[in-house]
Amino acid sequence: MTERPPPDRAQTATPTAEREAGRPWLRVTEIFHSIQGESTRAGLPCTFVRLTGCPLRCVWCDTEYAFYGGERMGLDGIVDRVREIGTPLVEITGGEPLVHPNAFVLADRLLDEGFTVLVETSGAVDVARLDPRVHKIMDLKCPGSGEASRNRWENLEHLTARDEVKFVVRDRRDYEWARDAIRERGLERRLREGELGALLISPVWDEIAWETLAGWILEDRLPVRLQLQLHKLIWGPDVKGV
Ligand code: SF4
Repeated sequence: MTERPPPDRAQTATPTAEREAGRPWLRVTEIFHSIQGESTRAGLPCTFVRLTGCPLRCVWCDTEYAFYGGERMGLDGIVDRVREIGTPLVEITGGEPLVHPNAFVLADRLLDEGFTVLVETSGAVDVARLDPRVHKIMDLKCPGSGEASRNRWENLEHLTARDEVKFVVRDRRDYEWARDAIRERGLERRLREGELGALLISPVWDEIAWETLAGWILEDRLPVRLQLQLHKLIWGPDVKGV
């Protein structure tokens, strides 16, 4: 069998010490070029900047390797690398990227360079300070994550037509929790009236049958977009940097 070539994985490059000395920096797990696997931009080429660290511990987390380690990189070096890869779409992710004050600065820098910037966030950190040009992909943690108590509900007030709310569900209880939140927190109405970009539901990988989840969504006429993590379908569930 022909082995599939890996995606264009551009791991973090070491910036020159002189240039970065005293400049703002972030701890970066990886920077890579891949196909966007989630959100309404699924399928598009995208550069991912994965920052290191997360204060949450979702039981099904698929990026635990980003909790620790990483490489210190100056913002100039990060922007250079993103520019070098050259896709117009960039996602800042983690971990939880917004625990780092300089992540907000990085978003601003990339926006000013003309990139379309997505920020994927857990929903547990204040998103109000993000530039309104950023497209926020914000989780609301279902009970099955073990982190539902961390949801910062006031973040919903800061979402606009650019933004998307994501629920990762592992069972029927999570699904009903998501459905009720969508209805009772006014998200269905906001989507209908164009005040919110999308509502996303993703199954926890290997824990819930896709057709079962699809059936529940159809039965309830829930206005969500079912997403199956395209990058995992392409490269497999355990491959990093895709
Ligand atoms: S918030 Fe994201 S990175 Fe952090 S534990 Fe949960 S899934 Fe993992």
